[in-house]
Amino acid sequence: MMEQYHALKAQAGECLLFYRMGDFFELFFDDAKVAAGVLDIALTTRGESGGEAVPMCGVPVHSADGYLARLIRAGHRVAIAEQVETPDQAKARAKAEGKPSSKVLVAREIIRFVTAGTLTEDALLEPRRANRLAAVCEVRGTLGIAACDISTGRMELEECTPDALAAALSRLGAREIVTPEDWEAAPPEATLRPAGDFASERGRQRLQDLHGVSTLDAFGEFSRAMLAAAGGLLAYLEHAGRGAMPFLLPPRINASDACMAIDEASRTSLEITATQGGARAGSLLGTVDRCVTSAGARQLAEDLSAPLARRPQIEARLALVRLFHDDPILRGDTREALRAIPDIARALARLVADRGSPRDLGQVRDGLAQARVLHEALAALPDRPALLDDLLPRLTGHGALVHELARALVPSPPTERSSGGFIASGFDDALDSLRETSGNARKAIAALEARYRDETGVSALKIKHNGVLGYFIEVPSKHADRLMAPDSGFTHRQTMASAVRFNSVHLHEEATRIAEAGGHALAAEEAHFETLVALVVEAREAIARTADALARIDVAAGLAERAAEGDWCAPAIEDASCLEIVGGRHPVVEAALARAGERFVPNDCALGDTDRLWLIGGPNMGGKSTFLRANALIVLLAQAGSYVPASSARIGLVDRLFSRVGASDNLARGRSTFMVEMVETAAILAQATERSFVILDEVGRGTSTYDGLALAWAVAEAIHEQNRCRCLFATHYHELARLAETCDALSLHHVRAREWQGDLVLLHEVAEGPADRSYGLAVAKLAGVPPGVVDRASAVLAKLERGREETGGLAAGLGDLPLFSAAMQAQEEECDTLREKLAALDIDALSPREALDMLYELKRES
Ligand code: ADP
Repeated sequence: MMEQYHALKAQAGECLLFYRMGDFFELFFDDAKVAAGVLDIALTTRGESGGEAVPMCGVPVHSADGYLARLIRAGHRVAIAEQVETPDQAKARAKAEGKPSSKVLVAREIIRFVTAGTLTEDALLEPRRANRLAAVCEVRGTLGIAACDISTGRMELEECTPDALAAALSRLGAREIVTPEDWEAAPPEATLRPAGDFASERGRQRLQDLHGVSTLDAFGEFSRAMLAAAGGLLAYLEHAGRGAMPFLLPPRINASDACMAIDEASRTSLEITATQGGARAGSLLGTVDRCVTSAGARQLAEDLSAPLARRPQIEARLALVRLFHDDPILRGDTREALRAIPDIARALARLVADRGSPRDLGQVRDGLAQARVLHEALAALPDRPALLDDLLPRLTGHGALVHELARALVPSPPTERSSGGFIASGFDDALDSLRETSGNARKAIAALEARYRDETGVSALKIKHNGVLGYFIEVPSKHADRLMAPDSGFTHRQTMASAVRFNSVHLHEEATRIAEAGGHALAAEEAHFETLVALVVEAREAIARTADALARIDVAAGLAERAAEGDWCAPAIEDASCLEIVGGRHPVVEAALARAGERFVPNDCALGDTDRLWLIGGPNMGGKSTFLRANALIVLLAQAGSYVPASSARIGLVDRLFSRVGASDNLARGRSTFMVEMVETAAILAQATERSFVILDEVGRGTSTYDGLALAWAVAEAIHEQNRCRCLFATHYHELARLAETCDALSLHHVRAREWQGDLVLLHEVAEGPADRSYGLAVAKLAGVPPGVVDRASAVLAKLERGREETGGLAAGLGDLPLFSAAMQAQEEECDTLREKLAALDIDALSPREALDMLYELKRES
């Protein structure tokens, strides 16, 4: 057995090997130690290897899913080795091979690799979250990404530059990443696969074979990088499924400019689909989601992760939300109808992957039937928005399939297929008569029981059934003698402590009838199951389209519900680079305050060509961050096609959204926090365009006061002069206010606070003009710093301020700085004279001595 185990373990590689033994999956050696730790189950030993006991642990097969889920969540991958023959088959094989049957071992094979990206089981998947696997590779400097969610069959291909990879993977929310093993830039957590899998021609061929087409033209135009990544993805799926391919729809291309770009740091900082702690509750998604179906919730998460960048698409989504927003009755009815719709996409994926159950068939039936009902209600509406007209035809067209499934299946089919009972009576006469036979036999057995009681006079006599004996007659021991008599017609089977068990010829006959008819009935049901699954598989693409359309409708109705609940408004999307938000609120903070019975103070924001950059000062805890984030989230929601928490909003399309928070809030991270802050800020300066929107929260805070002020100053200037994007910049450096003297599209704002009877009152109101003072000591007092310490700080502060007045303060001399653009130009000019000198050099004519002198001269001038 250990020989077989080691051979399988060699195939499993880094995966933990689940080795099937009877009713358990066993793990051995290091696998056992790892699994016992993660799963908190007992680690035992079995036999010896090299003189040492072999560590072992095991999980019951019937509850393996839960254990698998925990191992996968802990970052492991698992290979499942199943018994692929019965012990009887193994014995027969041994006999045929001439081996003694006592030495046979049932054959085992790895039937599947279970990894985070290749799950389809309901028990292992989160219903309201997509489960993506992504393959990435590089073809001549361009990265191809192929991503799929095999729990719904969606497949997407895209291209990006190396520096945009992290952003793309975080947008896709990939659970598992595979890359070629020879790619040095592979993300550290990636699963490495043979480089040959990522050849573009092989990729094209695999896609064509998968979809049974001779050209991919109908699906779109794919680049070499996309095809190479697709090849790697399909090869990995084939490996994980041991040749059985999961359900995949034809690939879609994600155009890089179709979505608003949001990099990973911004995504994390804005807490779009998860909080920084990883929870869905408390994220934007958690606050916005009112979807009534899991598929809708998954679609909403996608929409928020990848807001659109093109006006027509955004407006199409908004029009659908408006339809449901303006008509509460329609909204209520639609949501009620949707609520009854099961997760067809995932049921379909399981059926196509041959892991489906009768219940999945029932879900497809119910979902498609309900889609038709919804179609009727929505098609009757006058003035339908264009998006709805696109969606409606996808809701119907399954009449024949639904009819067949409805005729064939019982109302709520079981998840277990092997015990039958899911085919409705009346569907198949032969099956009905088999069932009648076994039903009659059961009745006959009940009649036998009554008869035997009469004949023996033992009223406690019972006919029972168990898995080992089948049917048997049981009487309490004290009455057993009456049945023991040789001519009684009963044969003895088993003596228990308090009862004795018998058989009889009649009982045996009836039991055989039941077993035979039951076996045939099961076989008949199994055959029907296969036929029905084939029908569903045949229609898979149309069913997937229906599932998508239902999800889209759920998203729109859910967003409308959320908008109505929170008094949100429809944003106007414009091409001009404006951002005018009146009465804007932060949806997550507002909801949290509401729970505490407090009111959120709405604020306005008005950025445009002539006033692009707002510097926002004011006390800590005054509401600066909240204001910044509220506006970023409003832009994000609007471009995802949602209403927004404001009383009105005009939003000029944003191509990229950036959010950065100064270092000290991010202490949890490993790298030097100031380094992180600067790396992230550098990315904004390099990438933000005139159409971008940037929020910077206390950037420059992670270093000494002088360095910090200097950096904040230079960053604000660069954003103003070079990036020219819309930007909200929160800072506690008063000195930055002087930027307003030189930057004409920059204006000063502050969050208001008042001291009232010696206490600080934070008004959370954003007002025009510079902040007058920082109220740091007042905030400290508010936070409960002991009065003695606050008093002492006041004395120190007074001293410092006196010093500041005398020297001209932190910003002394800043007024004399040349303008940012002039400074940049001067640098460039200097650089140009060097360049000219270099260009004029005739290197071949220089003696070594002259060359060295020239080098000294250039160095002096640089
Ligand atoms: P700052 O960035 O100025 O330090 P925050 O934005 O973190 O301040 O806000 C601090 C707290 O003040 C928030 O957690 C929230 O409870 C409250 N707050 C912020 N903005 C508002 C607002 N507009 N209305 C009501 N409460 C607010």
